[in-house]
Order: sequence, then C-alpha cells, then structure tokens
Amino acid sequence: MGRTNKYIMKKMTRILSPSYLKNFKCIGSECEDSCCIGWDIDIDKLTYRRYFRTKDTQMKKAFVEHVYKNDDSDCDEIDYGRVRINEKKWCPFLNKEKLCNIYSNLGEDYLSNVCYSFPRVYNIIDNVYECSLYMSCPEAVRQMLSNDEPIKFVEEDVFLEKYIIQSFLDSKESQWKNSPLRKLKEIRSLSIGIVQDRKISLSRRLLRLGTRLSEISSPKDLQEKSCLNISDYYTFQMGFFKKAVDSLHVFTEIDSDVFIELTGMLHRGFLLDENIALTEKAKLYRKARETIVEPFLKSNSYIFEHYLVNFMFQGNFPFTENESAFEGYLMIIARYALMKFYLAGIGSVNGTINKEDVVLVIQAFTKTVEHHRTFIFDLLEDIKQREFDNMEFITLLLK
Ligand code: SF4
Repeated sequence: MGRTNKYIMKKMTRILSPSYLKNFKCIGSECEDSCCIGWDIDIDKLTYRRYFRTKDTQMKKAFVEHVYKNDDSDCDEIDYGRVRINEKKWCPFLNKEKLCNIYSNLGEDYLSNVCYSFPRVYNIIDNVYECSLYMSCPEAVRQMLSNDEPIKFVEEDVFLEKYIIQSFLDSKESQWKNSPLRKLKEIRSLSIGIVQDRKISLSRRLLRLGTRLSEISSPKDLQEKSCLNISDYYTFQMGFFKKAVDSLHVFTEIDSDVFIELTGMLHRGFLLDENIALTEKAKLYRKARETIVEPFLKSNSYIFEHYLVNFMFQGNFPFTENESAFEGYLMIIARYALMKFYLAGIGSVNGTINKEDVVLVIQAFTKTVEHHRTFIFDLLEDIKQREFDNMEFITLLLK
C-alpha cells in the first residue's frame, strides 16, 4: 500500500467524509480518556521553533522543561520534537481542569499539527480527500453512534488549516498494475454495502462479505484450509481471546486507565486468574454472551455496523494490513470479536451492558490496539502460524 505521512497547509479542499463527522467537537475537560493522557505528544518543526521563540516567559520556561528534540523523527512536519509526559502519564501542559495550557495561553495556532488534527484522519485515494474520526476519542464514538441510520458519506468544501495525511494512494500508478489495490475503492464500497444490508443479521453479513471477497480475490489470498472441527466454540473463543489479551500485558504495559479497568472486569467476570479449567471460564463467558451481549446487540446492531463501516472507510478495507484482502478481512473480524469478548466481561460483572459501555469498549480498544506498535501484526502472524487463516476459523469467531 502506498502509505505515507504527509503534511500540507491551508487550502480549500473538497472532502468526502461520513455524515457523523460534522457534529464532532472536542469536549475537553469533560473527556473521560483524554488524548492528552497516556501518549508522548508529537511536535512539528515549525511549532517546535515557535515554542522557543515565544515572548511568554512562563510558557517558554515550560517548553524548555518539557519539550525535546526527537532523534527518531520520521518527518519534520509531524514528530520533529516531542512533549515528555509526566509520571502520571499526563501531558505537562494539561491543567487540573484538563484544559490545554498552550491553547489557553498562546492560542490554537500554537498547537502542533498532531494536536490540531486529532482525532481526524485524512487519506487521499485517487486524488479524493477523505476524512473520518479515530475511534480512540470517546466523543468521536458517541458522534458516530448518535444516529442509528446507516452511515452516509457526504462531500463538502472545507478550508483545511493543518492536517496530516495518514495514507495516500494513486491506484493508476504503474506500481499497482497487477495489484488488487487497483480496485480498492470498488471493493471497499461493495464491502460497506454488504455490512449495511440490514435484511440479515450482522454475523451473516460478515460471512457473506467473506464469501464475496473470496469470489473477487485471487485463490492465493483466500485460503480454504479447514481442519479445526470444533464444537465447543465458547471454549475455543475463550482460549483464543485470553491468549490475545494476555499478550498485551495490560496491567504493566498499557497506559489507558479505561482499558486497564475493562480488562480487570474480564479477569473478574470470567475468573481468569483462578486455577480452574478453561471450560469453566468459558461457561461464564457463554452465559454473559447468551443472556446479556447478544440480546443487547440484537436490538442495537447498528452500533457495530457503524464501527465496521467507519473502520473500512478509514482503513482502506480490505487492504488495511497489507495487499491481502483476506488478511484485512480476517483482522476486522478479530477486532469485532475481541470487542464483543470485552463486552461480555462487563456483562458478567455488572449483569447488564448499555450503550455507554460499548462506547468505552470501542474507544479504549481502539486507543490501545490501533496505536500499539505490534499487537495487530503479532496477532495476524499467530493466526497464520496456527493455520487459523481460513473461513472455518472466522465462522467460529462469529458464533
Ligand atoms: S480524546 Fe477527543 S474529546 Fe477527549 S480530549 Fe482528545 S479530542 Fe477531545
């Protein structure tokens, strides 16, 4: 995939975006999992220089203390410098009211390109600018879920101030001559259409998507290995999900308090720390799925439909991971199934789940997993090594 981080400034641009985006506004101090907590903050070169030239002596002192030159920078316009987060994992410019001191004291213009753009994600596909929101922002998830009608995509002219391009593809370039990427837009739009076809359940739509992708992709991409023969799919899922979550070392290596809390609920709800058989843990999982999660999602199926559609649009589905349509399909199913596992954990502890629980699961999962350096790649490699990269495995995950 021709991905690149590009940065361009100030121009009137026609942008294609999902309709929920226009109502998004950062909720600042009200935010329960602020993007200013848990991450080092990237500072572009222009902003970095302005910080050290400011006449505001108090702010200049703070910049000298907390902002440093990033020796591993990939791009001057993105991460030339960094803000070192404090021991609480907060950005040092975030005040007690969870408001940004740079914004309050110097103005919006002093925000770095990353701070200014987040949670907006920009792609340019065949010269069309596309924008959507990262679901690692809780307010972005709420806006996405504020309407249960199928997500529509609208074009409008927007004056772009500062923005960062996450991926860039010109499918007509000769390097893509024999690549399935040449049909990215067509396949993505077909996939979104299948996921939004509400005549059947979401699980059946996703299976249909797999079948459809297999018809249009090369046989090499869509392997039909099948040898699992598993009847107790709850125990199988429990084993698979537990191993995946364990690999994240959540309690020692993850910074999101929300994700740590949700993972704690998984442990309590399914007795993951107890020395009992996996089948016993799976019984608790099954109970939560059958009595709480499935009834809730049956009457709220638009929630994950929206998540999947947004992800497909933003992630250039099915070529999200690489040029293999099947691997992109496999990993979107793995994400969806893992989030349902987390919801079952909440259900098992609380005896119920609600829409706000789903907002937190989507947000904290996205913040942790999509910004993790290796998790998705490692999970895909593990799936391939265990020869789970087939439709039988996907059917098991979708049960
Ligand atoms: S995560 Fe979203 S709502 Fe929260 S502070 Fe960041 S942009 Fe604002």
